[in-house]
Amino acid sequence: MKTSTKIILAALVAIGAAGGYYFYRSRVYAGNTLRVMDFINHPEKHPDWVIKAGTRCGDAPFQMPVDGFIGFLWDDSWKIGHHHQGIDIFSGTEPGVTNVYAASDGYLTRQADWKSTVIMRIPNDPVQPGRQIWVYYTHMAMPDGTSLIDAAFPAGTKEVFIKAGTLLGKMGNYSGTPGNPTGVHLHLSVVKDDGRGLYKNELDINNTYDPSPYFGFNLNRHNQNDAIPGCQK
Ligand SMILES: [Zn+2]
Repeated sequence: MKTSTKIILAALVAIGAAGGYYFYRSRVYAGNTLRVMDFINHPEKHPDWVIKAGTRCGDAPFQMPVDGFIGFLWDDSWKIGHHHQGIDIFSGTEPGVTNVYAASDGYLTRQADWKSTVIMRIPNDPVQPGRQIWVYYTHMAMPDGTSLIDAAFPAGTKEVFIKAGTLLGKMGNYSGTPGNPTGVHLHLSVVKDDGRGLYKNELDINNTYDPSPYFGFNLNRHNQNDAIPGCQK
């Protein structure tokens, strides 16, 4: 083997190890971390864990936004005092490969400084008609912060109506901090309205709703046993 090839291989191994380390560190307290790690390392062994993009459970309001395994649920906790505000869907692919589609109709906004995130306003909550809700999609950027959001939605996009199934971008692993990747997944959360026409802070679980009734199956860690999340209908 040529020296240059050896150096490249060593660098790739180091990059892989660093990515794994960051992922492990941030998720170390999750009870189902091992299952997620197993899926990320060997997605080909678990095709039955994957739900296909565009599929819908019965007459549920939302459809699957990506091909993937729902590895972390709403109210999962991997750090004392932290409660996961949404669901994490893992593709088992590299960043920039797996398409992310809108789970529902809505009005899309991408703030001027958002590299990896879009939010969709749903004026009439299909689960509780009469109230407005928001659906937040994030991690759609490369580890260095290069955006993977579709060119149709440049930074600063405001209130563009799109239908369920519209391509939003590609799944990435950007955490918000360049060089600190999260493991390739889509984080989706259903966010409360602040009553004045804006969304509440998604980082606090109290500002979000349990996504289970939107997808038509259990996505709440409090209620879920060890079964792989999916439609039982
Ligand atoms: Zn998440």
